[in-house]
Amino acid sequence: SPQPSDSLQGITSQTQSLSGAVMSSKGWYKEVIQILHAKFGLNSFRPNQAEAINETLSGQDVVVLMPTGGGKSLCYQLPALVKSGTTKGTTIVISPLISLMEDQVYHLKNLNIKAEMVNSKLDADTRSEVISTLVKGELELVYISPEMLSISRVMQMALQTMYDKHILARIVIDEAHCVSAWGHDFRPDYMALTKVKNDYPGIPIMALTATANNQVLLDIVNCARPNPLVLKQSFNRTNLLYEVRKKGPKVVNEIAEICLNYGGKSGIIYCRSKKDCETTAEKLRSHGVSAEHYHAGLDSETRSKVQKNWQESRTHVVCATIAFGMGIDKPDVRYVIHMSMPQNMEGYYQETGRAGRDGRMSKVYLFYKFGEYLNIRRMILEEQEVQRDIREHKASLLLKVMQYCENTVDCRRKQVLQYFNETFDSRLCEMKCDNCVAMRGQTVVCQDVTELAKDVVRILESIGMDRVTDQQCIDILSGRMTTRTRESNYNKLKLFGCLSSYGLTFVERLVHDLLSQDVLEDYTKRNSRFAQTYIRQGKKASNLMHDKMRIKMNFPKSNETRKASNGRKSKEYSTAKRFRN
Ligand code: ADP
Ligand code: MG
Ligand code: ZN
Repeated sequence: SPQPSDSLQGITSQTQSLSGAVMSSKGWYKEVIQILHAKFGLNSFRPNQAEAINETLSGQDVVVLMPTGGGKSLCYQLPALVKSGTTKGTTIVISPLISLMEDQVYHLKNLNIKAEMVNSKLDADTRSEVISTLVKGELELVYISPEMLSISRVMQMALQTMYDKHILARIVIDEAHCVSAWGHDFRPDYMALTKVKNDYPGIPIMALTATANNQVLLDIVNCARPNPLVLKQSFNRTNLLYEVRKKGPKVVNEIAEICLNYGGKSGIIYCRSKKDCETTAEKLRSHGVSAEHYHAGLDSETRSKVQKNWQESRTHVVCATIAFGMGIDKPDVRYVIHMSMPQNMEGYYQETGRAGRDGRMSKVYLFYKFGEYLNIRRMILEEQEVQRDIREHKASLLLKVMQYCENTVDCRRKQVLQYFNETFDSRLCEMKCDNCVAMRGQTVVCQDVTELAKDVVRILESIGMDRVTDQQCIDILSGRMTTRTRESNYNKLKLFGCLSSYGLTFVERLVHDLLSQDVLEDYTKRNSRFAQTYIRQGKKASNLMHDKMRIKMNFPKSNETRKASNGRKSKEYSTAKRFRN
């Protein structure tokens, strides 16, 4: 079997879109358009849908990265109905959540599409009934939970029979980021999916996800055969307004005010604990907000009821843990509030992504205080059942969220997209985030930081051949003692802590700025278990060192009109002050 690829080189280069015209030359073009109109009632394709459909109908593997609400389902639901492609039979969809499957199968049946599901919630009789229809080739689509695929002998035999009878059309891995331990939503059962490509040779694979930084993407790509077509589009959600607010003792009152301002419009409030969900919902009701709570501790009947009430706009607000919402398709969610900081940027992106799926302006709020960061971090590091490297990895993901909250200078959108390795020109934000608004009219001081940037390059030089992540590099520059720093003796380096007086937030901005200017570059490698992204000197590093380029960054001139998001003295301000002298 082919070796997993250990780098993304040559893969990301294929991400440019094919033109829609490519499909019109194919034999299935007419049928595809007919199904789009007549079955799904849609006028046209959204970006990359036609490309994905075309590729899978040609029998090729394809990886689809599309923001939440972008229209991933159509990429596999439509080809499942096409008779004139090179593939025949039933489309198998692996999907991580039962509620998500139920949603989709219900929707498909309404469109008179022959769809069923197989999961642990079905009783044994219904399950074997579905499996026997499946094996007879009578279904167009079947949704299967990952554990059915990995543990059920009956299911495995059914698929083998279908394979032998040539009625296995394609295998779809939805929410494919679940295969990656680097993703925010890792499912051990999804690990089995990395080998379906070997179990069913020649059957096209389609993997879809809304969230993938390069580490996660590498794990997803390994589910497909070498060099799949990777379709990637910008993750910028232009219709979302971003805001981070200081979290004070009256946070629930503040949230109630927000909800009341939205009147009867729909919103989600993400809370950290089950208890928080309950008390917040109750308090909101006392303010006259129509709110219910939702978390994994409720029985499934109550959960479906809460979800349905909200989906059909009978209740306006759900106070929920992150268990709520994956794959739920409510187009008119006008706001999403994080009452506590999320644990990582991927989760944040996914959860905020549930707002504004209909494309209309919607707003996302995050309430943050530094003390809460420390609490959550401690809880992560103390999780006994979790292996040490995973715990530390989770803590480093949380650190990124803290830095995002603390960074009151750079465009929020730019920061979020940076996490997905996407460069974004903050002018395109058009004042749709708190930082862009706050920095408007504010005199921004443009400072030359070339000499500091050189220290970053020098640090990488002195580290030599060791692999370092951007975070480790930031730690070394700002003199933070971590396990890695100690183990690798980085604290003995001459330049260790050379930028410590500028603050962690500034150092992070600087390193990310250098990455976006090719002074540094990132690369992804597969270790013994996972893929990891590291940084090294980039193409422009020698230009910088030879004074052929200057690095400039913006700082706010004063903090009079701007308070730090956590109420402490803003680091940007102190940095700017240093630079003014
Ligand atoms: P994702 O899985 O990417 O989050 P979905 O597949 O659930 O998104 O689709 C989100 C919404 O977009 C659905 O309401 C769907 O009907 C709609 N949609 C998908 N494709 C199109 C299209 N080509 N034209 C109009 N609406 C579409
Ligand atoms: Mg989806
Ligand atoms: Zn902005």
